[in-house]
Amino acid sequence: MHASRRLAVLLVFVLASSASGQEPRVLNPQVERFVAVNAPVVALTHARVVDGTGAPAREDQTIVIRGETILAVGKTGQVAISQGAQVLDHTGHTVILGIIGLHDHLYWGGTVMMTSYPKLFLAAGVTTIRSTGSLDSYQELNLRRRVSTGEVVGPEVFVTGPYVQGAGQAVGWMHPLNNADEARRLVRYWSEEGVQWFKAYNLVTRDELGAAIDEAHKRGVKVTGHLCSVTFREAVSLGIDNLEHGLTTATEFLPGKQPDVCPPGNADSVYAALDINGAEVQQTIREMVSHRTALTSTLAVGELGSATRVPRDQRVLDALYPGGADQVRKFYDGATPTRADSFHRASLKKAMEFERAFVKAGGLMGAGSDPCCLSQIAGYGDQRNYELLVEAGFTPEQAMQIMTSNGAKILGIAARVGTIAGGQQADLVVLDGNPVASPGDIRKVMLVFRKGLGYDPVKLTDAIKGQVGLR
Ligand SMILES: [Zn+2]
Repeated sequence: MHASRRLAVLLVFVLASSASGQEPRVLNPQVERFVAVNAPVVALTHARVVDGTGAPAREDQTIVIRGETILAVGKTGQVAISQGAQVLDHTGHTVILGIIGLHDHLYWGGTVMMTSYPKLFLAAGVTTIRSTGSLDSYQELNLRRRVSTGEVVGPEVFVTGPYVQGAGQAVGWMHPLNNADEARRLVRYWSEEGVQWFKAYNLVTRDELGAAIDEAHKRGVKVTGHLCSVTFREAVSLGIDNLEHGLTTATEFLPGKQPDVCPPGNADSVYAALDINGAEVQQTIREMVSHRTALTSTLAVGELGSATRVPRDQRVLDALYPGGADQVRKFYDGATPTRADSFHRASLKKAMEFERAFVKAGGLMGAGSDPCCLSQIAGYGDQRNYELLVEAGFTPEQAMQIMTSNGAKILGIAARVGTIAGGQQADLVVLDGNPVASPGDIRKVMLVFRKGLGYDPVKLTDAIKGQVGLR
């Protein structure tokens, strides 16, 4: 046989045998060392399942995974498990959809982290992230590729281009735009490089934002924003796809707001006194819903403004490098019930009320952790969001939907990872406990499946101890 033909035959044989799922997957050693389950067919039995659709949790379920995909889900005993399947008894445990973190930066304290953060996200049950504000889009594009080819472990990464920021006090890594043409140039270049989203920032003008959205949409790329100079309503009418952070970045409610300018000063006391059922707020909600503008809830980072509320989390101190851990220890220890702290508590409550009103009005809301600073780090911040969404008044199943299925809808991947059902990609998190009855159980991650491979959260977190905050 001709050598190249022989190679082709061999390749067909290899592909056919892996597709038939007879062998465990051959993994890169950098990935394999974190994998606890790698079998052609896996059955998770006797588990409670929260499927991400908002439907009530179902008891005593079996999920069969074949390769990268969920084959079947149903009552234990009524779902066929093929011979040779690896069967895991999950009595007393809960399986949720992999968390989709929509505001999940790959940096903390200004330091970009391409080794510790991807592992920490995965360890905490976050199987997909959108970086939503990037300090180094090329590193993110490289990470996205390396995760997808199986060279490194991590969540699937939706890469955001450099911040779309207006002129003025730009942070070091942001290019301050001077006009709409410059906005178009930035969006054109980075769209061609492969970013999937842009994030407009607090000093952008209406002109620049409108140009950026127009240029992005021509290329099938989407735009979100952490806004201030442009109001929510203005951004909605310009066609923005998503708004970050919610109520406390909606500046149409601030007295004396001038066009294209971010109002000065701390507005917590204004938000704290706002009537969510009043005409002003309801108009913004209505316009967002009618234009299908999604909202990203980031309650956990919002909570940092009231240090007295933030629960002390030893896992955060363990993950951070010593200098960072000192900084966070001081933050925890320094929590005092000041006037500013209490205004912020009240504005956080209003932000929660706003999010409930938005969802009730038919708005599409996802969630993200914004693991940028202080105690807010990858993955653990997403878990805190769940507790805060439940505190906000969502049912546990709704909170789960916000953190999983809704994120998939916003990213346009709901047909692939939008629920726990046959045919969906096997991105699943096994929790030791019942997060419906005890929201804190979302922290008890036992096993994280991404594309059908089961990762060990202990191995992942052990590998990054003391490293968060270092390059
Ligand atoms: Zn952010």
